[in-house]
Parts: sequence; C-alpha cells; structure tokens
Amino acid sequence: MPEPASAFSKVEFLVSAGVTGGLPPEDLPELAFAGRSNVGKSSAINALTRRKRLAFVSKTPGRTQTINFFDLGGRGRLVDLPGYGYARVPQAVRAQWDQLVGGYLGARRALAGVVVLMDARHPFTAHDEYLLEWLRPVTQRLLVLLSKSDKLSRQERTKVLSTARARLAGGAHNAEVRLFSSLSGEGVEETRELLDDWLRAAGTGDKKPPVKGN
Ligand code: GDP
Repeated sequence: MPEPASAFSKVEFLVSAGVTGGLPPEDLPELAFAGRSNVGKSSAINALTRRKRLAFVSKTPGRTQTINFFDLGGRGRLVDLPGYGYARVPQAVRAQWDQLVGGYLGARRALAGVVVLMDARHPFTAHDEYLLEWLRPVTQRLLVLLSKSDKLSRQERTKVLSTARARLAGGAHNAEVRLFSSLSGEGVEETRELLDDWLRAAGTGDKKPPVKGN
C-alpha cells in the first residue's frame, strides 16, 4: 500500500517522559516543538496533525515537568517540550526545565529538528532568548514559527518576518523563519511539508553518526 502523503496524517500519543526517565528508544527521527506557555504550541501541533485535542490531552498544571512523545505514522516522532510562562520563574522550576529540556536537546541523537514558536506580536521575549541560547549548540535543523500571525495586519506580518529573519541570520543554525497561524491556517501546510522533508532526510542517512559503544 502507498504511504500516506504526510507523516502527520497518522499521529498517536506515545509516552510522557520526566527527569526520572521514560524516554522512548532512539529508533526514529524526532521533531521537537518548543516555546513558552500560551504561545500557541498545542494549537500548532493540533493544526499540523489535523487533530482537535491531541496536544491538549497532556496539558496539565504539571506540564513543565514532562516531555510528551507522539508517534507520526511509524515514520518519526513529534516531541512536545514543556515551556513555562514567565521569565521570572522559581529557580527550582528553571533548574528542572534545564535538566529535562536541556538534557533532551543536548543528548538526543534521534533529534532531527527543532521547531520554536514565538508570538508574532512580541517575539524574542526573555524566555524565547533563553530557549534560543539553549539551542545554540544544537546542530539539528531549526524552524522558527511566528505564531498567531492572524492577529497582525499584512504590513505588520511582513515587518516581523523580516525583523526575525535578520535577527536569526548568521546564527549557528541558519534557522528558517515563517509566519504561522493555527486559526487562519497561514503556514500550516508549508510547515507540514517542510517537517515531512526533514523526517525523510533523517530517515535516509542524513543523521548524526551513531555513538560507538565502549
Ligand atoms: P500553548 O500553551 O503554547 O500550548 O498554547 P495554546 O495552543 O494552548 O494557545 C494559547 C492561547 O492562544 C489559546 O487561547 C488559543 O486559543 C490561542 N491561540 C493559539 N493559536 C492561535 C492562533 O493561531 N491565533 C489566535 N488568534 N489565537 C491562537
């Protein structure tokens, strides 16, 4: 049977992992989604997968403490990384986030790419910068989505896109930057296509080399 066009057309919740463990085996390429809370990450995941409540299922008050994995039609995994709401979070929360998310980003060989969401109305908040700083040494592909773009006028959209592109240009990643709206659908199809490409590339050998056993 021919494979469905997009890996995002068959998605299922797989597992939650915490600081104490629970990560699935690294046998499939992973696409990690990150962003501060309320940026529209769950809505974006739902729009990309055409599911209404997929990413909300795992949205509980303790969500800064878990990484949620979703299977993408057996071709890859979507990884929902926790974000927090404010720059000034208790030190303990930040330390736990560093350990969990930083640990994942720094060590995950299955990681094929990272999608960072920033609110198009006010990108580059302190938390966004903190996240981008964490991503600096991460060599995988990076896509920055400027979320809730429907809240901006056409002129504002053009402006924020070029500002964000200029600001991210020349960084370690050569990040792609796009406008995105779960509500209007702007950028949804293009993002799905790009991420499918990333999965395909990761599945055909464009991977980090395996770590040799001792
Ligand atoms: P998360 O905390 O990052 O997962 O954010 P959610 O997906 O839960 O969205 C936070 C709030 O922003 C909710 O009230 C959503 O309805 C709203 N929202 C999410 N995406 C969009 C969008 O594309 N456009 C608009 N106007 N609102 C959005």
